[in-house]
Amino acid sequence: MPFFGMFSNDIAIDLGTANTLIYMKGKGIVLNEPSIVTYDVTSRKIVAIGEEAKKMMGRVHKELNTIRPMRDGVIADFEIAEGMLKEFIKKITSGFMPAKRIVICVPSGITEVEKRAVRDTAEKAGAKEVFLISEPMAAAIGIGLDVTAPYGNMIVDIGGGTTEIAVIALSGITNGVSIRVAGDELTESIIRFFRANQNMLIGETTAENIKCQVGSVMPLEEEIIIEVKGRDLVAGVPKLTEVSSIEIREALNAPVQQMIDAVKVALEKTAPELSSDILDRGIFLTGGGALLQGLDERIRVETGVPVHIAEEPLSAVARGTGKVLEEMSKYSKVLLNR
Ligand code: ADP
Ligand code: MG
Repeated sequence: MPFFGMFSNDIAIDLGTANTLIYMKGKGIVLNEPSIVTYDVTSRKIVAIGEEAKKMMGRVHKELNTIRPMRDGVIADFEIAEGMLKEFIKKITSGFMPAKRIVICVPSGITEVEKRAVRDTAEKAGAKEVFLISEPMAAAIGIGLDVTAPYGNMIVDIGGGTTEIAVIALSGITNGVSIRVAGDELTESIIRFFRANQNMLIGETTAENIKCQVGSVMPLEEEIIIEVKGRDLVAGVPKLTEVSSIEIREALNAPVQQMIDAVKVALEKTAPELSSDILDRGIFLTGGGALLQGLDERIRVETGVPVHIAEEPLSAVARGTGKVLEEMSKYSKVLLNR
């Protein structure tokens, strides 16, 4: 089919816990939407995906359910995840051209069974050929590091479900730590804070907005006070309250400390030559969690290593996975299924 042949529909996918990004060969990132699905409870038919489904989150009735099919970095609901991926691919290929080749990334701490699930999902979504790459490797390539060189780079990718820490050299991950504490856990800490200290229930979207707007891990030059709306747990009525950035910082501290401790563990497990490379070059932060105010400084203070926040941290993994798709032979060594 010469006509169809003119279009390349090979794609690269960052199937994240929080956001799904799709890169199309020759075009760049063509889709960037929350990994959220609203479906009909009785028929299990998908009603909305992505941005549209996110607007419905916390506002649905009993006939509809809004879920995030990815949890802790892996597929939690296969049927819904597959449906979501199919719908996203349909959106960017106008439905009539299934993707031929898909490069898709997975957390580095993933099991063989979990890998199989990602591969099956991509195949069921129409792929003829599926290639897997680990997320921190994709992030490193995405931010322009030379992953093939004989020196070490440390990537800390903080997504919704997992914090992935990896030392990369000579096209491989020499050592890494993956913990299931990341952005979602930070959001949940804020929900817990309001429940425990204000007798108030707030929604996930509200808590996430608070985290992104006033969340911090180091004292701010000017601490601020914001108004928060939710439901009074005792009276059951809507409630408005005030909270300071200092209180939010305290609420975030426990999971933040777990993430920093994981970075320290990864540094302890790093061979001395690579350690010295990392001290020279610094640690690179990617993923949405890299945007948490003061996190770079806090890691610097606690580890003594320079820290850089990647440019556009939310798309680093997708850009890297895209580069691998564009230059498959150059990057063949970084693929997980050789
Ligand atoms: P994933 O790869 O798991 O889909 P992402 O890299 O897309 O995750 O990052 C999403 C996470 O980043 C979410 O938990 C989100 O709340 C968080 N995030 C996004 N922007 C900010 C911000 N400005 N401050 C703190 N966290 C943020
Ligand atoms: Mg990610």
